[in-house]
Order: sequence, then C-alpha cells, then structure tokens
Amino acid sequence: MNMLTSTLDLIGNTPLVRLKGPSDAAGCDIFGKCEFANPGASVKDRAALYIVRDAERQGLLQPGGTIVEGTAGNTGIGLALVANALGYKTIIVMPETQSQEKKDTLRALGAELVLVPAAPYSNPGHFVHTSRRLAEETDNAVWANQFDNIANRRAHIETTAEEIWAQMEGRVDGFTCAAGTGGTIAGVGLGLKAKDENVTIALTDPHGASLYNYYANGELSAEGTSVAEGIGQGRITANLDGAPIDTQFRISDEEGMIWVRRLLAEEGLCLGLSSGINVAGAVALGKLLGPHARIATILCDTGFRYLSTIYNPEWMRSKNLDPMPWQMDSAAQ
Ligand code: PMP
Repeated sequence: MNMLTSTLDLIGNTPLVRLKGPSDAAGCDIFGKCEFANPGASVKDRAALYIVRDAERQGLLQPGGTIVEGTAGNTGIGLALVANALGYKTIIVMPETQSQEKKDTLRALGAELVLVPAAPYSNPGHFVHTSRRLAEETDNAVWANQFDNIANRRAHIETTAEEIWAQMEGRVDGFTCAAGTGGTIAGVGLGLKAKDENVTIALTDPHGASLYNYYANGELSAEGTSVAEGIGQGRITANLDGAPIDTQFRISDEEGMIWVRRLLAEEGLCLGLSSGINVAGAVALGKLLGPHARIATILCDTGFRYLSTIYNPEWMRSKNLDPMPWQMDSAAQ
C-alpha cells in the first residue's frame, strides 16, 4: 500500500466488493462500490472535492472564503471536510427532516448549519434557493450548487467510472443507481459508455421521484413517497441532462429495506436506505440482463448515519415499515 501525502487523497479509490446475496438472487454477479469508505462516509465526498477544486480554478474561492450549500446532508459533510482541509468555512442549509445524525455530524465538523422546513422546489424557502441567497449575501462566498454544477458529475466520469472499469477488468454489463443530484448516475453512466457503449445504464428510482416516468414516457411525474434520504429527484438537473439512461426501475422502500436488512445480517454491511434501493435495482437489472451479467451499483453511505431512523424500531413503525427482525423485542419493551 502506498503512503498518501494529503488527507484529500483519501477521497475515492474505494473498494468494489461482490455481494453474495444479491448475486445469488439475480443469478449473476453484482458488485457494490463501497462509497461509505470515503472519509465523510458517503459518495458525496467525490463531488465535494471536485466542486471546491473547480471553484478554486475559476478564482471564485479566495483564501479564508466560505462554501455555502443546500444539501440532504452528505454533500455538506463532504464539503465541510474538504473545506477544513483547505482552510475554508462552510455554511450548510438542510431540510429539518433529515436525520439527527447528519445534523450533529455537520455541527461537529464545524459547519454552520441552517435548518429550513421541507418545501417543494417551487417554494422560495426550499433549501436549494435558501442556500443560493445566503451565498449571495455572504462576503467571499461561493455557492456549491451541486444539483446544477457539473463539476459534480465530472467527479464520477473521471474517478468513479474509471475505478469501476478497472476493478471489473473491463468486463461491465450493467450499472445502476438512484439519483439525488444525478451526478453519480450521469457521471458513471457517461464514463462507462465512453469505455463500452454496450454497458446498460439503468436508473433506479425511489417512489415519490419523477425520473422513472420521465425516462419511461417523457413525463416528469411522481407516485407514492419514500423515506430514503439523499435520493428522489423531480426535475432534470444540469447533472442529469444528457445522462445515458437505457432503462429504469421503480423500487419501494420495503424492497430497499429487504436488502438493507439482508446485507447487514448476512454480509456484515451496515448501509443507508439508498444503498438498499440501489441493490434492489441491481438485482432487477441482473434478472433483465441474464446469468452471465456483471453489474455494478453504489453503496452510497454508512448506516451509522441512520441509527435514529431506519435502525430505530419506533421510527420504522411510525413510517409503517418493518423494523429489523432482531430489533423487534427491544421495540416491544
Ligand atoms: N444516496 C445518498 C445517501 C445521498 O446522500 C446521495 C446524494 N444526495 C445519493 C444517494 C445520490 O447521489 P447523487 O447526488 O450523485 O445523485
């Protein structure tokens, strides 16, 4: 193993692991990209680093400057770490509905946290618009703008896709994941298609998001709801624009939770719900592509970020979802 000269070099180069249960269920090989192994414990560290480096290159960030962003949490955590390493401050605007762990983590990392009520994108109080205004009002500040700043997807074209291709030794039949900003699906999709245009890129959409219908029939419309944090998009962000999506799946929270439970109980991986939804999508893609397929998906973040939500039996019951079977007794006490 090589020695690294900068803590920022800890971002990326994550392991890729064959997932036994999902591979058995699909009858092919399913691999998970371990993005929880990044320093901020999520896939968003990559986008955070690229966005900050891009702002520096454009001269938008001066020494001692402030990075402002609206985020479901993980991008804020990545930005706060990158900012600390490079001598910047961070102001993070987040919907108050996100997990307590993410709020506590952001404050612990030194970010200034601004919580706003959850609101539709059309509402000026939405966390994205609030963060843009705050950036405009703050001296020497830059708005990271992860949804429409394509430095986000460039991180995945130049790093995640390259790594998956190398780790799978150039034999990739399919890739799937869900979209928050769309940076991961579009970036990995574009990167893998540049290597081999026959790689099937599938969007895995949670309920309550509009992209499944958009890619199926051109209509941005949603059905149902989801408690998954960080995914579920209602518009074509700049990062999603031109994403090479070949097919799409709609995955419920219940289906995603089956894989969150199984990956923890059978393979010792503690993950968030977006990872479970991605794995359910990968199993669906595997069944579509057949027995010799080699499919990659993203294990987006650590489950330790959700001890108060999906790993909390009372919280799960309040959302009409089944707690982990091994937590049933403690819930009844
Ligand atoms: N899962 C989680 C837990 C996330 O925080 C995010 C980022 N919002 C995603 C998945 C989706 O990543 P992207 O923004 O690249 O679409």
